[in-house]
Amino acid sequence: MNNLSNLSIQDLIHKEIMCSCGKLHRAGVKDIILGENILSTIPTLFAKYQCQNLFLVADKNTYQAAGQKVEQILREHGFDLTLHIFQREKLLVADEKAIGELTIRINKDTDIIVAVGSGTINDIVKYIAYKLNIPYIIVATAPSMDGYPSFVAPLITGNLKVTYEAAPPRAIIADIEILKKAPLDMFKAGIGDMLGKYTALCDWAIARIINNECYCEWIVSLVKKSVEKCIENIAGILKREERAIAYLTEGLILSGIAMNFMGNSRPASGSEHHLSHCWEIIFLLRGKEAVLHGTKVGIATIVITKLFKLLQSRKALNLAAAREKVAKFNQEKWNQKINQIFLDAAPLIIDQETKSRKNSRAQHQKRLQLIEEKWPEIIKIMDQMVPTVEKVEKILQEAEAPVNPAQIGIEAETFYHSLIYGKEVRSCYGILQLLWDLGLLEKLSKEVVDYFFSKKTAMVISISEKEKDILKKIKCFILDMDGTFYLGNNIIGGALSFTEKIKKCGKTFYFFTNNSSRHARYYQDKLKKMGCLVKQEDILTANQVILKYLKEKHRDQKIYLLGNNYLREDFIQGGVHLVEEHPDLVIVGFDTTLEYNRVAKACHYIRRGIPFLAVNPDLNCPVEEGFIPDCGSICAMITASTGVKPLFFGKPSFYTQQFILDYTRLKAEEIAYIGDRLYTDIAMGKKGGMVAILVLSGETSREDLANSSVKPDLVYPSLKEIKIRLDEIYPENTSFKN
Ligand SMILES: [Mg+2]
Ligand SMILES: [Zn+2]
Ligand SMILES: [Zn+2]
Repeated sequence: MNNLSNLSIQDLIHKEIMCSCGKLHRAGVKDIILGENILSTIPTLFAKYQCQNLFLVADKNTYQAAGQKVEQILREHGFDLTLHIFQREKLLVADEKAIGELTIRINKDTDIIVAVGSGTINDIVKYIAYKLNIPYIIVATAPSMDGYPSFVAPLITGNLKVTYEAAPPRAIIADIEILKKAPLDMFKAGIGDMLGKYTALCDWAIARIINNECYCEWIVSLVKKSVEKCIENIAGILKREERAIAYLTEGLILSGIAMNFMGNSRPASGSEHHLSHCWEIIFLLRGKEAVLHGTKVGIATIVITKLFKLLQSRKALNLAAAREKVAKFNQEKWNQKINQIFLDAAPLIIDQETKSRKNSRAQHQKRLQLIEEKWPEIIKIMDQMVPTVEKVEKILQEAEAPVNPAQIGIEAETFYHSLIYGKEVRSCYGILQLLWDLGLLEKLSKEVVDYFFSKKTAMVISISEKEKDILKKIKCFILDMDGTFYLGNNIIGGALSFTEKIKKCGKTFYFFTNNSSRHARYYQDKLKKMGCLVKQEDILTANQVILKYLKEKHRDQKIYLLGNNYLREDFIQGGVHLVEEHPDLVIVGFDTTLEYNRVAKACHYIRRGIPFLAVNPDLNCPVEEGFIPDCGSICAMITASTGVKPLFFGKPSFYTQQFILDYTRLKAEEIAYIGDRLYTDIAMGKKGGMVAILVLSGETSREDLANSSVKPDLVYPSLKEIKIRLDEIYPENTSFKN
């Protein structure tokens, strides 16, 4: 796979292609190294470039993610290396402050800058590299946007986002091992940015007709192929599978290269990007926290697709009405509106219009004539290139990404304004201008607002004040695994997004399992395979609960254990003295290697008065085929024989509650217990004075709940719905953007 990805993309950038479209396609990037564990190739690259004095730029997060490793490799190879790591309490922004800081810090004799990061670091360094005429390479830390190879750098200056001329990197280093560890939201943003190509390409095809713009069939097919490859791999991307992450990364880099090939942004950016830029400006001006670029582009792609579909459904054009509408266009009023919406950014937009005069009657007249002439062709383009709204929505839903402007804090009125005035942010021709030309922009925009904001109420279930209060107070979530986080080997939809959301809100989570036939390391591996990266300390088990008890109450006593090798391993590591003869205690776990003779021996000891302890009370353990007898059932057999009931640990015992309180150092009411089983998970939460949250994604049905005396504090279909509630309480932000 690596060779293939390397070959195709590396081949592309090394050729200068004199194309039949009339352009000389040139990538501007010399090397793209994409694969697993490829950081070690960097020294060879610098030897090739004959660079010795290196300057490494990162921020706190990206230094952790990759910078440290790059530094180590370069130092080992004897390079002269200076570091600059941006220390920001909040998010690093590509603004005057960052540019100034780096300009002051950079060494005069720097041969090459090594940028380690994604969007922001790349933009900052790209601009500095161009201004100081020093080459740079980028070590990517997230596949979140397609700007790595870009010739331009969007910077925030004077509180406005302005695109400045810049330099493409000499090399892009994309190590899948690093990229796959990026926050999930950044993958989703990357998918959103890729999805935008659907409408961008369609805008381009229409602009070719109306504006006579240069259009390249080859590049269109190149970009389309990358989009498809990315969409086919969404499930894998969410699971952090190397191959899927490689496709997404390659697709993003390739669409960046496609823009370099054309010398403009047509292959990768259209009206969906104009809308996204418009939202970004509005957020910035109103001091709202930023949302990842690709997240906005994804939502905007649904919006633009909907507009295309509404236009396609129009039977005939009414050109007379269009002329009449445009004749009523009032420049004065337009200026007022632009000032009102874009505040400080308004002069720039008005200036842009003064130059392009795209809203002038003369230009409109000219375009309208072309639209009339070429209407069948335009219809054909839309039929062939625009996907259905359902398709785009489904892809984003599969990616567990937002699909409605309301989900990123855009209200109906702002949304409507962005549809009407979004086209003024850039002067490239696209569907928004086409609708204006046809006199349909306002009418169809209203329909689109209705579409999204009537859906909003159905989709974003409104949250009661009581529920909000409960969720807000929670500082730590204890999660059950089977039936709650995954089913067998399959992660439950929305589970990963839920844990990422918890981190984003500044809360914590731990897993807790009663299953005494496994240990924490086993679960750490299992979760990793599903794309969930947690530390071993984040997985709590019933084994640990009983071990703590033994340490505190029965130190140095001899134990006779019924348990498999995982449990034995935990006990031995916990310093427990296991014996076959003369025990002080008998302990029974979920012994999947149960032997009759050893059960008989346990009964013999218990009958003689040796205390009987059990790791977990579960009667059955869910497996793919149904259930298998668990620790509780093994104990039941022993109880039947001896008449002695064991002292149970695990959930819902008092010991587990105490263990969790000690471990988290929180008050019970600050902890929520989430699980799918009433008699263990929910009983645990209720008994311990914690918030008990039932999910219906596993064992318990609504009927079971109705018939049970154990009542949870909150009930949700799955973790996904809890995440939606948290989104409402703590709206999306980008505290994880590197
Ligand atoms: Mg469960
Ligand atoms: Zn983009
Ligand atoms: Zn071409």
